[in-house]
Order: sequence, then C-alpha cells, then structure tokens
Amino acid sequence: MLSQTPVVQIHISRFCNYRCLHCYSSSGPHQKESLKIPDVLAWTASLFASGYRRVCLSGGEPTLASGFLELANGLSDQGYRVSMITNGSRVQTVLDAMNTGAVQHTSVSFDGPKALHDQIRAKAGAFDRALSTIKTLAQSGLSCGVVPRDSSVIGGV
Ligand code: SF4
Repeated sequence: MLSQTPVVQIHISRFCNYRCLHCYSSSGPHQKESLKIPDVLAWTASLFASGYRRVCLSGGEPTLASGFLELANGLSDQGYRVSMITNGSRVQTVLDAMNTGAVQHTSVSFDGPKALHDQIRAKAGAFDRALSTIKTLAQSGLSCGVVPRDSSVIGGV
C-alpha cells in the first residue's frame, strides 16, 4: 500500500551537471540559480506547524545547489525526516550529508540498463557512477534506494 504521509518536495535549483534528454525541468549546467535558503526554511517551518514531517530534496542535482547542506541541516533541525533524490554522480557529497545526519535517506535515479541510461543522461559512465554510489551507500549501512524511470516525475534527478 502506498504511504499516505504527505511529503514536501523542494526543488532547490535547476543546476545540474547532466543535461538529460528527458529532463522535465530543463535542468542543466547553466541553470545556477538556487532558492534562497532562509526563505525556504521559513516556508518549511510554517508547513511543519501544519503537520508536515517529511521533506524530499531534488532539482536539478540537489547536491550541487548553493546552500544544499545549509538547507538539509536546517530542515533536520526543524524536525523533518530529510530525503533526497540524486543522479548519483557525487558520492562523497552524498556520504557527507548522510554521515552528518543532514539527510536521512537517499534515492538514486536510474533510467534503465546501462546503455539506455547513459544515452538518456547524455553522459558516458553515468550508469556506472550511479551504481557505484548506491553500492557505497548500501555498504555503508545508510538508508538508500533507487528511483526507476517511471517514478522520475517526482523529481528532476
Ligand atoms: S533529469 Fe535529473 S540528472 Fe538529468 S538533467 Fe534533469 S535534474 Fe539533471
């Protein structure tokens, strides 16, 4: 059964190191603007008071957004369970965010088998990097999962 728990979805920015063929948000390397972190934290404080307890960060690639860690830490401090969806290209930043407790769960997005994934991502090696990231997280005992292509509507990554 699907969870009925409401989740606040935050697309911090459209900045991404990939330029995927299917990106519904037209994210890419030249979209460098990010939401202002104090503004976002003010909104989420209000939503927390209304009963929201879970938040998911995406984008763009959330780990590239200006203020990513500040936002994740701020949300955790507010009492949220913070998750994120990443393209899996930046394993060390993901590890840092999770090991410090700023992010409690990470999902890595996949578009299919290696050849198809790399074609859609327009990036050779993208599949291997994503797979390596999810393996590293799992081997580190961190909460993680994958987002298959059909679920990509919930996040740009
Ligand atoms: S689909 Fe995801 S990884 Fe691809 S450009 Fe968009 S945000 Fe970046």
